[in-house]
Amino acid sequence: MASPESTSAAGADPLASEPALRGALDQLAKVHRLLVTSDYDGVLAPIVTDPARAFPLPAGIDALRSLAGLPSTTVALLSGRARADLAKLAELGPPVRLVGGHGAELTERLQLTDEQAALRERLATALAELVADYPGAWLEAKPASLVVHTRTAAPEVGAAARAAVHAGPGSWPGVALGTGKEVVELSVVSANKGTALAALRTETGADAVLFLGDDVTDENAFAVLGDADVGVKVGPGETRAGHRVADPPAAVAVLEFLREQRSGAVAGRS
Ligand SMILES: [Mg+2]
Repeated sequence: MASPESTSAAGADPLASEPALRGALDQLAKVHRLLVTSDYDGVLAPIVTDPARAFPLPAGIDALRSLAGLPSTTVALLSGRARADLAKLAELGPPVRLVGGHGAELTERLQLTDEQAALRERLATALAELVADYPGAWLEAKPASLVVHTRTAAPEVGAAARAAVHAGPGSWPGVALGTGKEVVELSVVSANKGTALAALRTETGADAVLFLGDDVTDENAFAVLGDADVGVKVGPGETRAGHRVADPPAAVAVLEFLREQRSGAVAGRS
C-alpha cells in the first residue's frame, strides 16, 4: 500500500501503484501522431511564493525535450504565464511549443485590436489603484491581461482584494475573468487552455493528447479531452481529469514513463 509520501519519494516509482494510468500511457505512446501538453507551475515546477523563482524539476524538462525530438510527437507547454517569462524559467524553446496567457499567446506574436489594447490600459490603471488598498497584493502585467496576486497578502486581505476585483474591473464588458490559486486574472482575449489545446490538436493532426495540470484554469483543457486522450490532475482538488498524481515529482514520472514507452513505440515502426 502506497502512502502519499511514498508516491514522490526519491528512488520509488510513483506510477507503481497506478496501473490504470500506466495502461493509459502505454496506449497513448502507440498512436501515430501524439501531442504532449502540460501546464508549468504546480506540475513541472513546485509552487513557490515568488513566481519568479518557480524553477522546473530538471528531469521533467529533459523528458519533454526528448519527447519533442521523437518522430510524430509534438510537445507544448500551456501556461498562464506570459510566453517570454515561461521561456526563461522553463529553459525550453523550439521544437517545444510555448503557449502563454492561458492560450491567448498561442502564436509567436500576439496582436491585440485597438479596442483590446485600450481596455488593457484602462484595466492597468484601475487595478493599480485597487491593489494599493490591499497590503501584500500585487499586480502583474502580461501581454493580454493583468493579474492580481494575493498569495503574499494576509488571507482576509487577499480575499477582500479578490472580491473587489470581481465586483469592479472584473465585471467590465470585454473582460474575461480567470481565477486560480490566490490569483485573479483579467484578460482582454477570451482564449483559455481548452481553446488552445483544441487549436494545437487541429494544427498537429494529433491522434491523441496528454495533458497535465494542477489548477482551476487547467479544467478547461481537461474538458476538451476525448476517450483516446489522457488527462492527469496533479495534486488535490476537484477535476474532470481521468487520472491523478500527487505532486510535481510524480508528474515528472508520468512524462519519463511516456518518453520510455514512446521511444520504444516509434523505434518499432518501419
Ligand atoms: Mg499550474
